Amino acid sequence: MNLDVERIRQDFPILKRQVHNHPLVYLDNAATSQKPLAVLNSMNEFYTTINSNIHRGVHYLSDLATESYENARKTTKNFINARSDREIIFTSGTTASINLVAYSFGERYINEDDEIILSVMEHHSNIIPWQLMAERKKAVIRVIPVNDNGELVLEELEKLISKKTKIIAVTHISNTLGTVNPVSEIIKKAHSQGIPVLLDGAQAVQHGTVDVRELDCDFYVFSGHKIYGPTGIGVLYGKEELLSQLPPYQGGGDMIDNVTFAGSTFNVLPFKFEAGTTNFAGAVGMAAALDYFSNTGIDSIVSYENDLLKYVYEKLSRIDGLTLFGKSASRIPVFSFILDHIHPYDTGMVLDKLGIAVRTGTHCNQPLMDRFGLPGTVRASFCFYNTFAEADALIDGIMKVKQMFG
Ligand code: PMP
Repeated sequence: MNLDVERIRQDFPILKRQVHNHPLVYLDNAATSQKPLAVLNSMNEFYTTINSNIHRGVHYLSDLATESYENARKTTKNFINARSDREIIFTSGTTASINLVAYSFGERYINEDDEIILSVMEHHSNIIPWQLMAERKKAVIRVIPVNDNGELVLEELEKLISKKTKIIAVTHISNTLGTVNPVSEIIKKAHSQGIPVLLDGAQAVQHGTVDVRELDCDFYVFSGHKIYGPTGIGVLYGKEELLSQLPPYQGGGDMIDNVTFAGSTFNVLPFKFEAGTTNFAGAVGMAAALDYFSNTGIDSIVSYENDLLKYVYEKLSRIDGLTLFGKSASRIPVFSFILDHIHPYDTGMVLDKLGIAVRTGTHCNQPLMDRFGLPGTVRASFCFYNTFAEADALIDGIMKVKQMFG
């Protein structure tokens, strides 16, 4: 089924606005995506009719709020095809989810000289939590390299895996290069040696179907705000047998069973990892976003984004003096590029004056920038509400930048 993009755009009020007297062309979706009315209305309705703290009160509204929150968990579980609600932990986002795993998994399983495998293309969120843990435990981080096309060099992974490897944590899709990594292959290799794998899905859930059972990943993490949901809410999926072995990350209300000064016991999954008042309204909004995304038709979204990808890739490739980073055949419409002799920041500033929102800089990917010897890039990231006319506006904008600085 073809996507009716013009109709879809009506669902996103912000897309109608002007920026610097130009229609907004929002190409910063990898940083955060815009929100459809379905999400805004669901949160508005929650706050105007149900709002009350969850899992606590005996009163009517608290029951309704708890039911909404636990339904959001069910929606999330079904969305990624987890086995059980107990495998879905609500966090504040991808970063919080990875910090949780790095801390709790590290406490339970990582000892001196143990190794953790990451890749060069990881977002800082999938580097720093592991570094902090490795420092604490005197463990060692090993890194999968990236080739000139912006793909992981899997032959090197074979060499990195050893008896000391305790976990592999890699991104499903690169936020800078757009590369879709061969995660099933990585998981198979890791599991053949009994090593668990965490996938950073921050850039993946909004670009296709993610089935954690089919992938057989051990942990999968993502943020609500990148999949058309609110900020401050995200997900940690973990296999129940693994999560149940991990100690709590943060302590507080709701995550306990019995508290005494002699010692306390902890709640069952998933609550053991949800200390304090969670972002329950955010969970409701994120569930509305997941429903909206599914109801729009994930296959149609993928097919449309693929058409956009080919169109933009082709046009960018033809621009003289433009270097594109990330040339994998397996990719999403996220484009990182530089223009000869023009600083990415200048390019971004001029595009902004034309109403075109892109991101410039290192995109929280400093090791990847170092790999390519870059101070930064311009990144244009598309999603299913972007049009071919907006792609043309980007190309025209780049030509203007070239003229101005040429
Ligand atoms: N990993 C990747 C691949 C990302 O793109 C991002 C967001 N840019 C993150 C992790 C961190 O996500 P958040 O800031 O929502 O926690």
